[in-house]
Amino acid sequence: MTLHGKVAVVTGGSRGIGRAVASALAREGVAVILCARDRVAVEKVAAELEGSGAQVLAVKADVTQTSDVEQMIEACLKRFGSLNILVNNAGITRDNLLLRMKDDEWETVLNTNLKGVFHCTRAALRPMLKQRGGRIINLTSVIGIMGNPGQANYAAAKAGIIGLTKATAKEVASRGITVNAVAPGFVETDMTHALDPKQQEAIRSQIPLGRFATPEEVAELVVFLASDRAAYITGQVIHINGGLWM
Ligand code: NAP
Repeated sequence: MTLHGKVAVVTGGSRGIGRAVASALAREGVAVILCARDRVAVEKVAAELEGSGAQVLAVKADVTQTSDVEQMIEACLKRFGSLNILVNNAGITRDNLLLRMKDDEWETVLNTNLKGVFHCTRAALRPMLKQRGGRIINLTSVIGIMGNPGQANYAAAKAGIIGLTKATAKEVASRGITVNAVAPGFVETDMTHALDPKQQEAIRSQIPLGRFATPEEVAELVVFLASDRAAYITGQVIHINGGLWM
């Protein structure tokens, strides 16, 4: 995949899709910086990856905090000397019907899922612009395209990521940096395990391929977009949803 020796930052790398992305990149010979708010969890994943020979740096960082993000990028440059790939994966849900939604449910989701992407992208672009190259991959969601009752905050943030992706792609294309979004449908992670079994079954019945994705299937797509093979793809939303939305 022509990724050997590259350096990647993966936000929300302690579990789920982020963890699968970190380990898939590490397998390709990429040095990986993982962040999450839970230091113990992120260090555990880093130790596992190091055990299989990868170069990894675990960072406790909250993507809603500009200073945490700036320090993470500085730590990356100090340790590995460059930054080639940013995977904006950290995300949360705080579901509620719009009429009942509290300000903090709206703000926490927008701050994490959308503002967090802005913070990390701005910080990562500085070294990427100097290097005249880079890959930014943003995790959006089918919900940002289709909407979903009870997820107005999440849908707004994920739709916002799509606009952010396209605007940034246009700003930085001339410097050899591509910016794309990956839009999964439903993936087997803690986020979907939190749904009650009846809800999960109702969703599954709507998916032509009849199942949720594995985190590894999403990670394969992210690795492809990070590689030289995807050099001519920018400003796109790539769907991976088992046919749920066509
Ligand atoms: P997950 O299993 O809940 O993991 C979320 C990760 O994000 C954790 O590592 C978490 O660690 C981290 N995180 C949360 N808030 C953070 C913050 N403020 N700063 C830094 N890290 C933070 O989620 P997932 O299912 O893998 O989802 C990953 C991404 O894919 C999200 O953007 C999600 O919206 C998107 N997605 C998921 C699905 C799905 O079905 N699972 C579908 C479409 C899109 P800490 O809690 O320790 O910070």
